[in-house]
Amino acid sequence: MEVNGLLVAYIRILGVAALIVYGYSWVARTIDRSLLKRAAIGLLFGTGGVISMHDPVVMMPGLIYDARSILLILSPLYGGPIGMIVAALMMIAHRLMIGGIGAMGGSVSILVVAGTGYLFTLMPRSWLGAGWRRSLLLGLATVSSFVVLAFLPPPVAIELFQKAALPVMLANVAGVMLLSDLFHREKERVRILRALENEASVDPLTKLPNRRFFQRAADRCAEEAGSKRIPFSVIMIDIDYFKKINDTWGHSVGDSVLSKVANTIRAAIRKTDIAARYGGEEIVILLPYTRRQDALNVAEKIRRQVEAGNIVVDGQEIKVTVSLGIASADADAPDFQAALKDADTALYRAKAAGRNRCEMSAAA
Ligand code: GH3
Ligand code: MG
Ligand code: MG
Repeated sequence: MEVNGLLVAYIRILGVAALIVYGYSWVARTIDRSLLKRAAIGLLFGTGGVISMHDPVVMMPGLIYDARSILLILSPLYGGPIGMIVAALMMIAHRLMIGGIGAMGGSVSILVVAGTGYLFTLMPRSWLGAGWRRSLLLGLATVSSFVVLAFLPPPVAIELFQKAALPVMLANVAGVMLLSDLFHREKERVRILRALENEASVDPLTKLPNRRFFQRAADRCAEEAGSKRIPFSVIMIDIDYFKKINDTWGHSVGDSVLSKVANTIRAAIRKTDIAARYGGEEIVILLPYTRRQDALNVAEKIRRQVEAGNIVVDGQEIKVTVSLGIASADADAPDFQAALKDADTALYRAKAAGRNRCEMSAAA
C-alpha cells in the first residue's frame, strides 16, 4: 500500500462524503417522522460505505481501506441505533460479498466500529466535550477497526499493522473531523431554517399557528374535502368582555388570560384539528372530517372548560368566558370562506344572546 494511493482514494472518499452530507440535508429537511428519518440516514451512510468499499485502496490482496469506519462511527450520532444498524448491515453484506481473507475480520470490525460509535452516544457530554475535541476523540476511536488484524494470519497482520496503521489512523481521524464538521454545520442550518419557518407561522403569545398558516391549512382542507366529498367544520371563538379584563387587570394579565384560553383550546381538540390565533382575542379552529353536531360538542366542551378554569391574579379570581360560533361546510361544495363567514355570524349571535354560549350557523 502506498501513501500516494491512500491520498488519491482519500480524495475520492471526500467526494462520497460530500454526497452523503447533501443527502443528509435533504433527509433532515423533508422527513419529519423520527424513526423513518433515522432509517433514511442509516441508508444514506450505508450507501456511502458501500460506494466507498466499491472503490477502495487495496493494501494487500483481499485487504482494503475505505471510508466505512468514518461513516460507521458517525452513523449512531446522526441516525441513532436504527441508523447505525441499517448502515452496519448494508456494509457487512457488501464486505462479505467482496470476500477475500479480510472478509470475516472486516465484517466483525464493521460491527465493532459501529458499536464504538454507539458507546459515544451513551457517554455524558462532559466526558467528550464538543466541537473539534469530540470529533478528534471519535476519529481516534476508529482504531477499534484494527480488530480486523486479529482475524488475519499473524505475519500478515504484523506487516499490515507496520505499514498501514498510521496512515489509516490519520486518514480516519481527518475524515471523521471533516465530516462531523460538515454534518454539524448542516444540522445547524436545518435547525435555523426550521426555527425561522416556525417563527413565521406561530403566534408568539399563544404559541398557536397564526392566520397565514391557518389560511394555507384551510385551503388544503377545503380542497381535500371537495375532492373526497367529506365535511369539515369551523369554530370561531372570542373572549367575552376582554376589554374589561384588560382595563381592570392590565394588559399583561390580559395576555396571560389569552394564553391560558389558547392552552385550554389546544388541549380540547384533536391532533388533526388546527386552532389558530385569528385576530386580537379571536381564535379559530378548523376541524377536518367533522360534522356539525360533533363540532358543536367540541365547542361546548371548550366553553365549559374555559368557564371552569379559574385564573387567579394577586389572590383574586378572574372570571373568563368565551362565545363560540360554529359552521360546517357543505360536503357537496365546500367553501372555506363561506364557512368562516357563517361561523362569524353565529358568533355574533352568541354575543347578542348574552355571551358564554355556543351558536350554530343555520346553513347546512
Ligand atoms: P365582547 O364580549 O363583545 O367580545 O367584548 P370584548 O371587550 O372582548 O370585545 P372587543 O373586541 O371590544 O375588545 C377586544 C379587546 O381585546 C380589545 C383589545 O385591546 C384586546 N386585545 C386584542 N389583542 C390583545 C392582546 O394580544 N393582548 C391583550 N392583553 N389584549 C388584546
Ligand atoms: Mg371579545
Ligand atoms: Mg373580538
